[in-house]
Amino acid sequence: MPSNDPEKKYRYDMERRQKRRLLGLCICCGAHKPIKGRAYCANCRDTQLYCKAVRRERRKAAGICTVCGSRPAAPGKIRCEECSRKNNQLTRSLIERRRAAGVCTGCGRKLPADSLYKYCPICREKQRQYRRRYREQQREREARPDD
Ligand SMILES: [Zn+2]
Ligand SMILES: [Zn+2]
Ligand SMILES: [Zn+2]
Repeated sequence: MPSNDPEKKYRYDMERRQKRRLLGLCICCGAHKPIKGRAYCANCRDTQLYCKAVRRERRKAAGICTVCGSRPAAPGKIRCEECSRKNNQLTRSLIERRRAAGVCTGCGRKLPADSLYKYCPICREKQRQYRRRYREQQREREARPDD
């Protein structure tokens, strides 16, 4: 069997991960202790986050969906229609579940007993800041219009 057989490589990787996990080591580098409750060490996690961010930026720049990376992104969006539809569905069902459970629809935290809002104080503060930033950006854009 050739050594570059993907099937074989996959199995080898799985076995190696399994072994590292049993030894209580990061399944990625096998050199460091993983973060509590995680399979990766802090180093590998950072690298992965970085790789993800780079990949995302690269896809965004190329006008490709940042989720699946195979279909073109919808005009003015970072996702393709298929992925944004899936994402919307997920978000909607999550919101419905949270609403039914009587928790904050933004983060799932318990709402204060006498809350008049669907969001907890933390999420409302976040939304306030987000709106303020958005308004500031709008104002800046109006102040110096692009040609
Ligand atoms: Zn590691
Ligand atoms: Zn997509
Ligand atoms: Zn919340």
